[in-house]
Amino acid sequence: MTTINTKINMRQLIILMISTIFCLHSCEIGTNSSDTEETHFDFVLYDDLSLSDISDISEELEYNYQRIVDDLQVKNMPHVTIKIWANYDNFLETMENSLGVRYEGATGYIFGSSEIRLYYTAHISMATVHEFAHLVSMQVNSRIPNNPRWLWEAVALYETREFIDPKTLPYIVSSDYPTLSELSTDFNNSDHNIYAVGYVLLEYVVKTWGMDAVIMLIETNGNIDQPPMFGPLSKLGLFGLICI
Ligand SMILES: [Zn+2]
Repeated sequence: MTTINTKINMRQLIILMISTIFCLHSCEIGTNSSDTEETHFDFVLYDDLSLSDISDISEELEYNYQRIVDDLQVKNMPHVTIKIWANYDNFLETMENSLGVRYEGATGYIFGSSEIRLYYTAHISMATVHEFAHLVSMQVNSRIPNNPRWLWEAVALYETREFIDPKTLPYIVSSDYPTLSELSTDFNNSDHNIYAVGYVLLEYVVKTWGMDAVIMLIETNGNIDQPPMFGPLSKLGLFGLICI
């Protein structure tokens, strides 16, 4: 179990200073931060969130950290900064200022290779692990974010154990399987089906070809035309094999 050290140290002081400058320029209401040398994460909190609000998140992250890093065979992870907003408008405004686009409905995203940004919800611990899995994928291939989106999300969904039973999905039950192209549609134009099928998609790859195949897919930006392993994936007939 990881506890949060509330004693001010130099790193925390610097984060507070940077956060204060950021706050002045963006008119955020409040900022709080936490960091310990023993953990892999810094937290920067906005909108009156307090350190007590993030203890579950910190614990969940540390619980899953080594497993995800080992699964994706990453040797060195950078220290990760996690920024959390309680006000959704502030979360979206920062997103738009940074990315030039609003993803309405999104509750988390990564910024660069070592920063996670989240909106505070009841599911924030899982969302944080999901975004962390994205950052670990980037250590395998820095060009993997949303390229392709089906693989980018499937890896994070699998590593976060976000399983949805395919038998509950009408389009799977009726054999109207999504294509990889459909699952790779941009968030704002997507039906978001990737979030429903991503876990089982990756699970099939892992059980059939192992994690080495997942690493190879990430390294090649989802190149499924490498025989003999990935031919069946291109048609997504695998849903018929594993679900029904
Ligand atoms: Zn994601």
